Amino acid sequence: MKSLQTSVRASDTIAIGRAFVVTRQSTTVVANCGSEAEEIERFTTALDSSIAQLEVLAESNDIFAAHLEIASDEMLRDSVLEYIGSGSSAMEACQSACSDLVAMFAAMDDEYLSARADDIKDIFARIEANLSGGVVNPFEGVKQGDIIVAKELLPSDMALVDLGAIRGFVTALGSTTSHVCIMARNHSLAAVVGLGEQINQIATGEMLIVDSMEGLVVINPDSQTLDSYLVRELNLEALRKEQQTVAQQTVEYQGEKVAVMANAGSVEDVAKAIEAGADGIGLFRSEFLYLNSSVEPTEEQQYEVYSAAARACEGRPLTIRTLDIGGDKAVPYLGFESEENPFLGWRAIRVSLDMEQMFCRQLRAILRASSVGDVRVMFPMVTTLEELTEAKQVLEKCKAELKAEGVAHNENIRVGVMIETPAAVLIADSLAEQCDFFSIGTNDLVQYIMAADRANIKVSHLYNPYSAAVVKAIKMTIDSAVKAGVECSMCGELASDSSAVEMLLEAGLRKFSVNTGSVAKIKYTITKTKTN
Ligand code: PEP
Ligand code: MG
Repeated sequence: MKSLQTSVRASDTIAIGRAFVVTRQSTTVVANCGSEAEEIERFTTALDSSIAQLEVLAESNDIFAAHLEIASDEMLRDSVLEYIGSGSSAMEACQSACSDLVAMFAAMDDEYLSARADDIKDIFARIEANLSGGVVNPFEGVKQGDIIVAKELLPSDMALVDLGAIRGFVTALGSTTSHVCIMARNHSLAAVVGLGEQINQIATGEMLIVDSMEGLVVINPDSQTLDSYLVRELNLEALRKEQQTVAQQTVEYQGEKVAVMANAGSVEDVAKAIEAGADGIGLFRSEFLYLNSSVEPTEEQQYEVYSAAARACEGRPLTIRTLDIGGDKAVPYLGFESEENPFLGWRAIRVSLDMEQMFCRQLRAILRASSVGDVRVMFPMVTTLEELTEAKQVLEKCKAELKAEGVAHNENIRVGVMIETPAAVLIADSLAEQCDFFSIGTNDLVQYIMAADRANIKVSHLYNPYSAAVVKAIKMTIDSAVKAGVECSMCGELASDSSAVEMLLEAGLRKFSVNTGSVAKIKYTITKTKTN
């Protein structure tokens, strides 16, 4: 018996099964390249083959549809051609362009966006495989109940393995925000990531225990360890079934209804959340529409998405957050200048108020969608009352336009504010008088209150949502909302943490907006809270 350990808590389940170690084709780096024209020709042929493969795969899988869009983007082609133009071989140019794009996405603070670094690696792995002779499926030979062991697992790998048949993943690279962890959480699979070189100790066919909660992999366990894990596995399975039943019910705290909604970034996310038992969408991150496109989405395109999301909610609330870009989320076609302190710079509502026409296109689309469901609008990164007043004035202008055009919309659409800056907490009383609801964004609130960048490992001990100052800010916000009679929800990551449930309920929170994978767990925890 041997044990491997990481500090990453990737998901909350355990698995016992046979190891399947993935071996990959190696790609050859040709440093002595041909002429520039020959290398351009080699790259173009490999890119075209990749696009042709993705076109076929995209018909049955959304991951590949997203890859097809990125692979067809001029930005990808141009960034490789630029390296070839400065003397690199096609393979070297792909590797350099890949590193640039991966670094750009990986630096982003948002889980969804940083996970897109994996998509970039994945697309380039395909192009590079095509450059060196073709793509093979590394998962041939995987058996029912296997645990996949690999240096790294990318989004397209997830599409090649039958997630219903395997038990979990073990990887050398990766963090909690890697695509593999997101998939593990969404499919209740075990995962231990970031094991580094230790992973080389695992061979195909060996028995593994993968304990995601402890970041532990046991190779060839002795019978005592195996027995204790078999019992834990059975208990966890029973608990999961119980949670799933509660997920489809309405939960209460001390006789009062508590809504457990979900966060979403696409119509598919909304549908999955509702299926998982979510009582609506407490945060629809509209920026994905802008980031997944090479031009600003039109009012019509936005209306299509927002109204489809509203329909998918089947009468439950859909809270659409207006564009939250800037900071770590760059939209290349908007041509923003780089800033010294992007998180303290031109982002979110500040951008929307300065780019009023773009803001209007979005607000008109949201208003139109409000005629097909319980759609609400929410403004991100508000720091002054004036910002809210100004945003509401633009909203009123859009309503008046739609009315004059005879276009259906909800004139009384509910308006909310994200409380994610210390300033918003301190003026919550005044904001509450001017809006219908709050949503506490702890992801940003923690970093602004503690002055600790959440991506900076050296200050990670300070990036703590349980810090006294943060807890006090949360309480102040809820108190202001309760006093003014406006709804208060929480859509930051803290809402998905079952250890925080009791504290939040006692502070008066009655609305949570969580990751889809946490809906069942949070509803269950609410029903089991000691003070309930
Ligand atoms: C937050 O800051 O808590 C939040 C939900 O917004 P985002 O993570 O999208 O910045
Ligand atoms: Mg935020």
